[in-house]
Amino acid sequence: MLTKQMTSAEELVKKWIEQQKEDGKTEAQLRKTMFVYGDRVMEIEADEEEKLQISEKNDQDIVIFRTPEPQPGPFCRCCSMEYDNEKEALQCCAYID
Ligand SMILES: [Zn+2]
Repeated sequence: MLTKQMTSAEELVKKWIEQQKEDGKTEAQLRKTMFVYGDRVMEIEADEEEKLQISEKNDQDIVIFRTPEPQPGPFCRCCSMEYDNEKEALQCCAYID
């Protein structure tokens, strides 16, 4: 189980790196990027030969405080215009066909 999880986490990071390179990012730009996978933290580092490595960072527990997502206000389902209240949002495109 543990082995499988480790493999997939590393694979995710490797895929991410490949993707970023395809998008034109240089290896220097990708260095120091950190990844959180479950309670694991990984960082991209360069070895002596300047090749990118994924290194494990966490020997302690990881605590992540996430900022809450702002809730979207009422909006019209047709044109996605936002309103102050649900009633106005419902009426927005209600009479247009
Ligand atoms: Zn509308």
